[in-house]
Amino acid sequence: MKDIDIIFNQKKIIVMGLGITGIPVTKMLMELGNHIVAFDNNTGLDRDEIYSRIGKIAKGDLEMILAGEENIDISLLEGAGLVIVSPGIPSENSMLRAAADRGIPVWDELELSWRLLSDKQRFNTIAITGTNGKTTAVNLTGAILQDAGMRVEVCGNVGRPLLNTIKIDENIKRAVDDNIIRIIETSSFQLERTYTFKPRAGVLLNITSDHMDRHRCIEDYADMKLKLFSNQDISDYAIVNMDDSLTAEKITNIKSRENGPSLIKYSIKKEKGSHIWSGSGNIYYDFLSYKGKINIRDALLMGMHNTSNAMAASAASLIYGASSENTGKSIRDFEPLSHRMEYLGEIAGIRCINDSKSTNPDSTIAALKDFTKEVTLIMGGKDKNMDFLPLLAFLDSAVNNIILIGRSAPYMEDLFKSKGNVHSIFRCDSLEEAVRLGFKITIRGDVLLLSPGCASMDMFRDYKDRGDRFKRIVMSFKE
Ligand code: ADP
Repeated sequence: MKDIDIIFNQKKIIVMGLGITGIPVTKMLMELGNHIVAFDNNTGLDRDEIYSRIGKIAKGDLEMILAGEENIDISLLEGAGLVIVSPGIPSENSMLRAAADRGIPVWDELELSWRLLSDKQRFNTIAITGTNGKTTAVNLTGAILQDAGMRVEVCGNVGRPLLNTIKIDENIKRAVDDNIIRIIETSSFQLERTYTFKPRAGVLLNITSDHMDRHRCIEDYADMKLKLFSNQDISDYAIVNMDDSLTAEKITNIKSRENGPSLIKYSIKKEKGSHIWSGSGNIYYDFLSYKGKINIRDALLMGMHNTSNAMAASAASLIYGASSENTGKSIRDFEPLSHRMEYLGEIAGIRCINDSKSTNPDSTIAALKDFTKEVTLIMGGKDKNMDFLPLLAFLDSAVNNIILIGRSAPYMEDLFKSKGNVHSIFRCDSLEEAVRLGFKITIRGDVLLLSPGCASMDMFRDYKDRGDRFKRIVMSFKE
């Protein structure tokens, strides 16, 4: 039996994690008549709500187990043909280890969906990964291609699983063919459990310190990101950011591969070997049969990092036939996404910016790059064993006051006091207190920036909750 055929044979299939990917996976596998055993260690989940999200399905059946890892009986794997796991669950999980020992395939939703796509659908894929900028870059690429008149689906880690973009034909055991270009945001966690994934255009935006609580070291994390290119061949494209030192270092193995993908390199400044670069309000490109310039002057997206994202999106879009004129117009008109350097206006004489989506040091560095000593920075939260040392130089050049919140605050205070040069460092117990202090100590005309550089879950539901609360508190100072 071919491995993907398992799901068409009314088998027992284990689904680990009942979240954004677990629910559609369960639903689809039940519709095909399988017997699903689904686990989630969040015992607070509401069973009825999960059943109602899955909906009434005549075929298949579902056994739902909500219990901590320690209470799960490994013998439940008996007779299972496949395990589909949420990206958030690490490989050390006892059930996953037991599945591996028994030789049961363990895929994530991306691998499952990829195996279902037709050859034509696979040909029409762009996958974007990186520590920072993925959501911005996939949405920007989607906007460019859509404005150019193409049918697109922005999907993946962005919140809409790839599986949700396909319809399965049970007779051919594949997704129903279509002419959609799928732009897939791909995280390192997802790539960890992909084996056959082979996007026609793969984009690597950057690799910097993040998720060090999950990956053993930055090298392991980089290797996961590079899996994006590992199945690509001569008919594919690897689009890479040469300004990112780890990326530039790691791509040598793509270069040396016989029949490997066409390598398309971009950098902010024209360097030897760059195919795409920027200058005087334009993006210039010169690779394969593509040559020209794209006018991005007065784009609404702010900052050098977004020029970098725009270069990546342009490269992927040009390959799919977008013109320079259309690409430029789409980039110029693209509205910044909420919680990413979102300008809230001048409030009580202070320029306020919500960058709550900053969850690692490099995104805070990107936020600070365009400022000189004018920022009161609110940062801190849940650390992921990340390296904050590279941030120190940017604190020095851009920041007057640092207000620390969250679980990482004591560690950061020690680090910044012992190794940094900013002398005004404060600690607050809540975001409300931090914003109040921010308005008190920031000079009129200067900037109050929330760019936490850490995850939010120590104090908030997620980064959206953190950003929304910041906005509400800031707006209360309007009068
Ligand atoms: P992701 O989906 O990878 O988390 P987002 O587009 O949501 O990326 O942006 C996350 C954070 O990273 C925001 O704070 C944003 O301002 C910042 N950012 C966006 N692009 C880049 C980049 N190329 N380099 C560094 N930081 C970036």
